[in-house]
Amino acid sequence: MITLQGKGVSDGIALGKLTFLERTHFSVEKRTITDVPAEVERFNAARETAAAQLEELSRTMAEKIGKENALLFDIHSMMLSDPDFFEPMIGIIENQKICAEYAVMEAGSALAQDFADMDDDYMKERAADVRDVANRVVAILSGTWMDVSAGSDPVILAADDFSPSETVQFDRSKVLALVSRAGAANSHTAIFARTMGIPAIIGFGSSLSAGLAGVNAAVDGGTGVLCIDPGPAVIEEFQKKHELLEEEKQAMEKYRGRETLTKSGKKIQLFANIGSVTDVEAAILGDAEGIGLFRSEFLYLGREDYPGEEEQYETYKRVLELMKGKQVIIRTMDIGADKQAAYFGLPGEENPALGMRAIRICLTRPELFKTQLRAIYRASSFGNAAIMFPMICSVAELLRAKAILKEVRNELQVQGIAFNEKVPVGIMIETPAAAIISDLLAKEADFFSIGTNDLTQYTLAIDRQNDLLSEFCDIHHEAILRLIKLSCDNAHNAGIPIGICGSLGADKTLTQFFIETGIDELSVEPSCVLPLRKVIAKL
Ligand code: PEP
Ligand code: MG
Repeated sequence: MITLQGKGVSDGIALGKLTFLERTHFSVEKRTITDVPAEVERFNAARETAAAQLEELSRTMAEKIGKENALLFDIHSMMLSDPDFFEPMIGIIENQKICAEYAVMEAGSALAQDFADMDDDYMKERAADVRDVANRVVAILSGTWMDVSAGSDPVILAADDFSPSETVQFDRSKVLALVSRAGAANSHTAIFARTMGIPAIIGFGSSLSAGLAGVNAAVDGGTGVLCIDPGPAVIEEFQKKHELLEEEKQAMEKYRGRETLTKSGKKIQLFANIGSVTDVEAAILGDAEGIGLFRSEFLYLGREDYPGEEEQYETYKRVLELMKGKQVIIRTMDIGADKQAAYFGLPGEENPALGMRAIRICLTRPELFKTQLRAIYRASSFGNAAIMFPMICSVAELLRAKAILKEVRNELQVQGIAFNEKVPVGIMIETPAAAIISDLLAKEADFFSIGTNDLTQYTLAIDRQNDLLSEFCDIHHEAILRLIKLSCDNAHNAGIPIGICGSLGADKTLTQFFIETGIDELSVEPSCVLPLRKVIAKL
């Protein structure tokens, strides 16, 4: 038996034969043409056929993968009429007098590469969409279409990578699991696999060699393990896990679309934490009632320069629109400590977790802060937004931040830009100082959300990044529980709601305590929403 480790992107177990996806390859020859207008016309006709195919795909797939996911094919269709997509293709036909198939392949690959080279992870992953659309047009031009059938028996399907339109067209009863050499966790392929309930593992690289075709294999989409030629003991272990997962899934589904209520009818808001637009799909699939923490600093990471107002506005707007009126709490950037972006030019520090971080950066660089706040306010017209400040330690800090907010609101008003003036403004309770003076802070905030990750680090003086200290890190330490209770009482005395958005919120051994303490909202990883609703319903 050989065990290969990849990245699990869609949970579930599968046992079966490994089969490599057979694609009908279309040959793209670099053919010289003489009648340029006729070739351009042939290309335009293929674009029209592709658009019609995609509209049909969007309609028929809505049931299989959900209306929102099927929208991708409308976006693919729109791409066909985008000048950035088709003009370079026509340019090659006209200037080089080369056939349309070759022109589409050339220009499509170049555009896909432009996307792949972008800093933003979401944009990077759009390279697969461009390739998918270009392949469709080439297939139409060359009179072939990708054969996405997986044979007659159910198999574990392997490939270099799967395109989104291939993935949705697989017959679920024939595909036990997907495994690929390349791929990205947030690609549409991964999202569709999760939506369709197909276990999937990506990123095996060359270890997933073609020589493995036809062997028996076992897939664990949760851990990312692929066992080649598993023995009876491994098969039994995988089967047991499969039964357990199925039982859990069935039990969980009962809670989908329901309010989160305790047995006695107390209502808890069960929200999800996200770090990007792509995470919203997981939050919706997980049945979150809102977004309790949008870690906006992820917009600033993994790039060379600050994200501008327009880019941020588009991002917040997309999240708010996707959440359709459900609350989205946008935490202003928490850069610093473990989330460093070199272009901020922050000085080296002995103790970055105790250094220039989060609201401290925002208050010392108000222009940067204002750019973000303008983007949030402008987006606030498109949904139910709330703003939350991280790492607050004093009333003075909160008042300074609110004064900047006011300046931003005034400027937008003067400029006649629409925004929601009633966006709630809350703070994170993640320093012991904030918890201890939460009675004073509550007078100036519309809500609290407890960041237990940092609250634990700062209360116990234990670096949250340091694994070596785990034996000293009692996450249920009485001091932390008391600070939670104190903040909760002070919030309620002032008549404001309080939630938890740190990891402790998903700790089922504390759910009873949180509810007894009066916590109004829990914001957890999207996959924890349904399991937690089930726990709460039993309390
Ligand atoms: C926290 O500190 O608990 C929190 C939610 O914020 P982050 O983990 O992003 O620091
Ligand atoms: Mg924190």
